[in-house]
Amino acid sequence: MSNIPEKWLHPALFINGKFQEAKNGRRYSVTNPANGEVVGSAPSASPEDAEAAIHAAYRAFKPWAGLAAPERAQILRKFYEEIVAHQEDLAQLITAEEGKPLSEARGEAAIGAEYVAWYAEEARRVYGETVPGVSASQRILVLRQPVGVVGAITPWNFPVSMVTRKMAPALAAGCSVVLKPAEKTPLCALALADLGERAGLPPGVFNVITAEDPEPLGRVLLDDPRVRKLSFTGSTEVGKYLIRESAAQVKKLSMELGGNAPTLVFADADIDVAVAGVIASKFRNAGQTCICLNRVLVEASILGEFGRRLAAAVSQLQVGDGTKPGIDVGPLINAEGLAKVQSQVDDAVGYGAILACGGKRIGDQRGHFYAPTVLLNVTPQMAIMHEETFGPVAPVIGFHDEAEAISMANDTVYGLASYVFTQDIARVFRVSEQLEYGIVGVNDPVPTVVQAPFGGVKESGFGREGGHWGMDPFLETKYVSIRI
Ligand code: ADP
Repeated sequence: MSNIPEKWLHPALFINGKFQEAKNGRRYSVTNPANGEVVGSAPSASPEDAEAAIHAAYRAFKPWAGLAAPERAQILRKFYEEIVAHQEDLAQLITAEEGKPLSEARGEAAIGAEYVAWYAEEARRVYGETVPGVSASQRILVLRQPVGVVGAITPWNFPVSMVTRKMAPALAAGCSVVLKPAEKTPLCALALADLGERAGLPPGVFNVITAEDPEPLGRVLLDDPRVRKLSFTGSTEVGKYLIRESAAQVKKLSMELGGNAPTLVFADADIDVAVAGVIASKFRNAGQTCICLNRVLVEASILGEFGRRLAAAVSQLQVGDGTKPGIDVGPLINAEGLAKVQSQVDDAVGYGAILACGGKRIGDQRGHFYAPTVLLNVTPQMAIMHEETFGPVAPVIGFHDEAEAISMANDTVYGLASYVFTQDIARVFRVSEQLEYGIVGVNDPVPTVVQAPFGGVKESGFGREGGHWGMDPFLETKYVSIRI
């Protein structure tokens, strides 16, 4: 049974510290991807609401930035405590609107809270520098100051932790935030606003606007010169659009975009660890994370055995409604997600791939479930080898030596996460250094932790979130030269 508070199911927009309906009075339904039932509803804000949110954030910015760092830290710490106190309700809400199994949703709520705790501490460590001057009379100070109003745009696949990973460092740095969460998962973001209000965030410091159509709100964030920074996580396509459109005002940007993560399994790997790792990386959130492995590259001498063991393990995964016990893989987010996965599988099979397991939708038409799938005999021309999959499908392809593996791994426009399974320490260094990726997980299929820098290279984006690196995107560097 769900314990989700009723007010989290039909929330209002959160602007200037007040919950308020959209000016046009519109709302839209939020549905559960496991069964198509309506979970609740969210306001469909208009551009006017977005302007009001920016106005509130702009007014709140200077007083918030002017607080002593420990004062901001204390409020963020209370925010963390509120999230922890409501962690189970948040987990239930994540599963209801996004679909991931409750065990994963609990993990997300926990790491979501941890980002806030981490940045509450990091707020105190925004250090400047002094630099020796060019003459005896010059003193050089380097100050770090908050950039101003931040527009944050977040995806649906981690509706709590993607919000806190941006909001917490922004607030810690002294910025104010206008958050536009994904239209499919507005409820978690507004629940976080409720918890922020309870924690005593001053009005206007954190605003949340939701809408069924993101484009008009995005337009306001792009066009308003008071928004000095956009922090975006989502598709490469929308990221490129935001990069182009923000050029007019030279806004600061952080872009965490798509991926096409390779996993390199060498013959010297512990095969049990590699099989378990591939499953953890690929089938978490039904394959809908930007760091999910997309391609499994296996050394030729173990290819047959690895494929058999992987398929045997994947066929055991339990698929179903994430609120039920023992479920490993939940639904895909919607019908389009399902159709894209099916088309990649059909394309691969059309080119001669062998379906070792899965390969089809399961359950009735109301839930968007796809059977965990392993494809063998995969070749480079198949779409699944170069497009992001975002579904529970593991394509397996062979390689002959380390150089070929690295070249295949880097043969993509993306560069977010990559994985390596090996027990050879020299190879760990060689391969990690040559992979053109922002993240390398060595015998580690789930590398996301709050203290490490998360982000990509190439078309996977720029900027890092997490650890002390996660503060940098919200800080400007000012140089003060003093003659005495
Ligand atoms: P996905 O395909 O995984 O839903 P998107 O890139 O479409 O990824 O969505 C990521 C975030 O970007 C969501 O919050 C979505 O609402 C937002 N978004 C999508 N299109 C636009 C746009 N034109 N302007 C601003 N935000 C957008």
